[in-house]
Amino acid sequence: MSTLRFHALKEAASRKPVKFEEADKKSSIYGTNVFNDKAMKQFLTSDAYKAVKDAMQFGTKIDRKLADYIAMGMKEWAMSKGVTHYTHWFQPLTGTTAEKHDAFFEISYDGLEVFEKFGGAQLVQQEPDASSFPNGGIRNTFEARGYTGWDPTSPAFIFGTTLCIPTVFIAYTGEALDYKTPLLRALHAIDEAATDVCRYFDKNVKKVTATLGWEQEYFLVDSALANARPDIMMTGRTLIGHTSAKGQQLDDHYFGSIPSRALNYMRELEQECMYLGIPVKTRHNEVAPNQFELAPIFEETNLAVDHNSLLMDVMQKVAERHDFKVLFHEKPFKGVNGSGKHNNWSLATDTGVNLLSPSKTPMSNLQFLSFFINTIKAVHDHDDLLRAAIASASNDHRLGANEAPPAIISVFIGEQLTKVLAELEGVTDGKLSPEEKTDLKLNVVGKIPDLTLDNTDRNRTSPFAFTGNKFEFRAVGSTANCGNSMTILNTIVAKQLRDFKKEVDTLIETKDMKKDDAIFNVLREYIKHSRNILFEGDGYSEAWEKEAEKRGLNNFKTTPLALKAKVSKKALDLFQEMNVMNHVETEARYEIELEEYTKKIQIEGRVLGDMARNHIIPTGIRYQNTLIENVKGLKEIFGSDFKDIAKEQITIIKEISERIEGINANVEKMTEARKKANALTNAQEMAESYCNEVKPYFDIIRRHCDKLELLVDNECWTLPKYRELLFTK
Ligand code: ADP
Ligand code: MG
Repeated sequence: MSTLRFHALKEAASRKPVKFEEADKKSSIYGTNVFNDKAMKQFLTSDAYKAVKDAMQFGTKIDRKLADYIAMGMKEWAMSKGVTHYTHWFQPLTGTTAEKHDAFFEISYDGLEVFEKFGGAQLVQQEPDASSFPNGGIRNTFEARGYTGWDPTSPAFIFGTTLCIPTVFIAYTGEALDYKTPLLRALHAIDEAATDVCRYFDKNVKKVTATLGWEQEYFLVDSALANARPDIMMTGRTLIGHTSAKGQQLDDHYFGSIPSRALNYMRELEQECMYLGIPVKTRHNEVAPNQFELAPIFEETNLAVDHNSLLMDVMQKVAERHDFKVLFHEKPFKGVNGSGKHNNWSLATDTGVNLLSPSKTPMSNLQFLSFFINTIKAVHDHDDLLRAAIASASNDHRLGANEAPPAIISVFIGEQLTKVLAELEGVTDGKLSPEEKTDLKLNVVGKIPDLTLDNTDRNRTSPFAFTGNKFEFRAVGSTANCGNSMTILNTIVAKQLRDFKKEVDTLIETKDMKKDDAIFNVLREYIKHSRNILFEGDGYSEAWEKEAEKRGLNNFKTTPLALKAKVSKKALDLFQEMNVMNHVETEARYEIELEEYTKKIQIEGRVLGDMARNHIIPTGIRYQNTLIENVKGLKEIFGSDFKDIAKEQITIIKEISERIEGINANVEKMTEARKKANALTNAQEMAESYCNEVKPYFDIIRRHCDKLELLVDNECWTLPKYRELLFTK
């Protein structure tokens, strides 16, 4: 009998929901581990408090002296909560978070006294040994001096007994080495561009904030079962495993009652989130068995991105206490739904207006239309970049794999707004007559809120959908750091808004047009220009793939193909122009992402080879031997009649041999393909080689393994099966 699997099954079956101490009211604990406004007012001098607030709102620099006071206040606050260490918390391009803890504890220079110390210098800047983080060739290892710098726009928080200070991570030559730095620059760009456009409509607007509400999907697998699967442990997904008889066919999991163990996990997780000021709100079962979703109330984008990264960390930690492993992978199980991370995105003014929300007056609806249509045009002009923003080895399993959004980027806006755009397309070229303007305002622009109110048909197959008062970028992968997609989305929209402003101003100045006329004229041209990207039908269908090809839309099915868009001349210039990334930074990121792709496939190939040869083949042989013994026995008893009597056994014996041959030969070929790929020196070629020459063996090897799983005695099988991973609650 396979001991590990059965031990794991026994352990998993005996679990009870884990109890935890529940605080009485969420609102009473919310943000208590965050150095938030309340804590700052209590622990900072008014000068120091004002300095932080100004830095948060206007990006002003904090001088060193005040930084000392802020650090002191932060330390007092943290120590009052039992904190002993601090860390600069950052998001290197590995996609996870990084931290290096230092104690407040210090010894005086003469060694005579000990005390707790945390000064402005430690708050503002640190120099972690950065040589082991991906840098895409920006920083040679002998110059391992990257530094982290405090980001005052995202408040410090306490996790465990450590004070965590959100920081950017930068090479000492100045280039960004993390997700946060370009994101902050992109958010600055969209603030400027959107504020300028807003001022056509409302002179009081001084700041525009991009908002993000992510929805995190994930699987929960019992930790004992997960530990018995080398593929889950090493790659976060199953590389082999026959689908179970029951999967999600009955749709009996989606929005169903949450199993008690999972529910207790979620409750404790949510409580942890409350302490950390992550405003989680929604929890529910997802489509696949053991798949769930968690969503917060939306926040300012930088904070929301930090909160998502932090959440993923917290999720795994809390899961340990509940004997679960969280699978964030986009496609942990073949044949059942994968996981995504919808990025709900909008723009809000400091006067409290959601710029993507239609409202009551025609004038503010013209503002809505401006932002709405500019976003569509940005997606139209940079669909390849948006695709690149979500490209990863794991998301490739999801995009275009007939479930989640296809690899083709398109925009869904709903029937009603489609009609509105059609009307606007017919607007007169040049100056509008007073009658036309009145008609437009009353009957087209003015009617939008009523129209969108009952526009509830939501097309779930669209990668980028307008959902009433925000756009939802659905193609983002569940493992992704939202920083990547949010940097690109905000950059392209910022660029578009900047161009829009220029075009409208030009019409006003050179054609003597009224502002409204100019706006209508520019929007009309944008609608015509971007028509191709709008799609309302079934994004999963083959018909759409054909139609999209006719329209000339991009359809990059794999990461190596998709990533190229990041280093096109157009993209390099765009990032440079918008001050988001210079050429070196953009190119470094592209290299890092290619490398990451290659490494992921390489690891999967190795793990698959190991499992196929060291788990599956020996198991097949063991069972085959049992059958051979059986056939020998039958021969002994029945003599020459045995062939008839042992017919089925002999067929299985043969099939096992064929499967073993299939596995062995293909693992051999895969290894050869890997060697060839490894010999390549160009990162793009290497990634393509892994994608096109190595990866195709995964399916072939898997098919033989999965067939063996069906043949071999259940008692001998060493790996927890799909039904066990998916239905153990
Ligand atoms: P679903 O897409 O699952 O039907 P909802 O439409 O209720 O769910 O909202 C999904 C997410 O959209 C939530 O996380 C919410 O915070 C976010 N959201 C709502 N309004 C905005 C906004 N103006 N900007 C960004 N995110 C938003
Ligand atoms: Mg959603």
